[in-house]
Amino acid sequence: MTRRVFRYVPFTIEQDATAEPEYEARCVSGDESECGAESGTHSGPGPVEEWQRKHTQETGHRRYRRNFGDYAVMQPLAELAELARASGGTA
Ligand SMILES: [Zn+2]
Repeated sequence: MTRRVFRYVPFTIEQDATAEPEYEARCVSGDESECGAESGTHSGPGPVEEWQRKHTQETGHRRYRRNFGDYAVMQPLAELAELARASGGTA
């Protein structure tokens, strides 16, 4: 039997700063069918919460499904070290 050797490359996981995170909510109030009203997509939680408050005030609906999404980038540690060396350089 041969033994395969994998070289392990360590990565850090970082939020992609070039893509905005996405916050949204959908009203799931209702007994037989959901209301289904949607907040739309926003780059922060504030406008979504504001929309919920307004929707609850207008309709009395109180139950929401919230979604959050963002983008993650795998960054090899070796590359980071190289970047640090390049930018930290000669003064
Ligand atoms: Zn509703």
